[in-house]
Amino acid sequence: MKGSSAMKYIDEFRDGKLARGLARAIAAEADPARSYRLMEFCGGHTHAIFRYGVQDLMPENLKFVHGPGCPVCVLPMARIDQAIAMAVEHGVTLCTYGDLMRVPASERRSLLKAKAEGADIRMIYSTQDALAIARADSGRQVVLFAIGFETTTPPTAVALKVARAEGLANFSVFCNHVLTPPALATILASAGPESDAKPTPGQVELDGILGPSHVSTIIGSRPYEFVPEQFGKPVVIAGFEPLDVMQSALMLVRQINQGRCTVENQYTRAVTRDGNAKARALMAEVFAPRETFEWRGLGFLPGSALRLADTYADFDAELRFPVAPGEGREIKGCECPSVLRGVMEPTDCKLFGTVCTPDNPMGACMVSSEGACAAYWSYGRFRQSGRPAAAGVSA
Ligand code: SF4
Repeated sequence: MKGSSAMKYIDEFRDGKLARGLARAIAAEADPARSYRLMEFCGGHTHAIFRYGVQDLMPENLKFVHGPGCPVCVLPMARIDQAIAMAVEHGVTLCTYGDLMRVPASERRSLLKAKAEGADIRMIYSTQDALAIARADSGRQVVLFAIGFETTTPPTAVALKVARAEGLANFSVFCNHVLTPPALATILASAGPESDAKPTPGQVELDGILGPSHVSTIIGSRPYEFVPEQFGKPVVIAGFEPLDVMQSALMLVRQINQGRCTVENQYTRAVTRDGNAKARALMAEVFAPRETFEWRGLGFLPGSALRLADTYADFDAELRFPVAPGEGREIKGCECPSVLRGVMEPTDCKLFGTVCTPDNPMGACMVSSEGACAAYWSYGRFRQSGRPAAAGVSA
């Protein structure tokens, strides 16, 4: 793409002059007679858009729609309930990443509250930390509460292979890894009309997709080829820097204007068509697809998540420490499911900035560093909506 060779270094991907040039190109090419609704799948894109004010640089008729690509946000409450039950009922040491600690579970509980009540729940930075805890005390059962998209799945696979090689009998994995393409298919299957006809409630209007960056480094761009083929929508795999997002938006505008519909790759410095063959082979060896899995906001999606392969069943925490399925009772008024489907903006939620803030989150979208509500709050976007924050609450 013209100009891309100039954007070699990280500063250049945030360069104001280049950004203004891209903004001018988008404004010049966007057809004022139509609208462009582009869904950024990843929470990382959402945060780049808000942090750098990318939406403000777009013409009025180009709007970013926030997608479900926040791994903490799409985890259904019932799975957090189950993890807490594992720690409390079986007395295991539950290891997980920081974002997940404060996500509300049923009955206003959370992993952090369960820890305060005495459960052994530990925050880790990598799967290797969980292995180290298991090695340090062979008398303690250590469960890795593994979540995330295809990006974080290979490190879990490595941990399982290491645990097997070392004979770590006190290590197991509560597997909640999910797959991106089935979620994208579900959103597109429920997407509204392309014309100016009004969508029915619960439908999201989309003209194109900004595809995931980190996920795509693993799976490549090939798995998105069903999107133009089956749904007639263009996809551009986009990097996470602001100029990546803007350049990708320009590529989508061009495809839409030219009536083209294909998968293009803006993030060529990291993504190939076939992705990381080694990581994919590792995932195929250690995991198997689940028949179905619940996503917050999207419901049960067939083939959308992974479980441990039968050959690793002895490391499966769900088999080793069975607990009753969680209740997963959503907090009344929390609109996370609609925010995750792109049919509502965070500021449409009555709890936003009043009851729900990062200090007192009511839903996962306000907790996670990739959540759309957290992005609106952190970068002050609620002010543009004309919606004041609650008295005594400041961003
Ligand atoms: S503002 Fe809070 S309660 Fe509302 S959708 Fe976002 S996270 Fe859920």
